[in-house]
Amino acid sequence: MKRSIGMKSSYVLTDKSVDYEITKTSAGNFALGYESKNGLFVVQFYGRSDTDLNSEIKNWIHKYKRFKFFYASSPKSAFVKECKNYHAFAKGKIDNKTHPEKPKNADYDCPYCH
Ligand SMILES: [Zn+2]
Repeated sequence: MKRSIGMKSSYVLTDKSVDYEITKTSAGNFALGYESKNGLFVVQFYGRSDTDLNSEIKNWIHKYKRFKFFYASSPKSAFVKECKNYHAFAKGKIDNKTHPEKPKNADYDCPYCH
């Protein structure tokens, strides 16, 4: 099933729901947060996995209520997307306090840092 990214809804953050939604072993990005009273997904944390999005997201169960996720074609594209979100939203609005780390052995840097 193909969904438009902008309209993709968030999912409740439980083991069962993560297994149901994230069926591919893949690099990817995720956002964690909650749903506001008017049904909007409010992001509190951005993260990524270079290898296995499913198991990475499970580390955050009980810390956050809902998640969204996006598969990435490579660790590099996941890293670049995470950096983009970090630079766009990090100024006090989300829980991420430190810059995303590069994937192991990466020969590239964040394109948004100067
Ligand atoms: Zn950066």
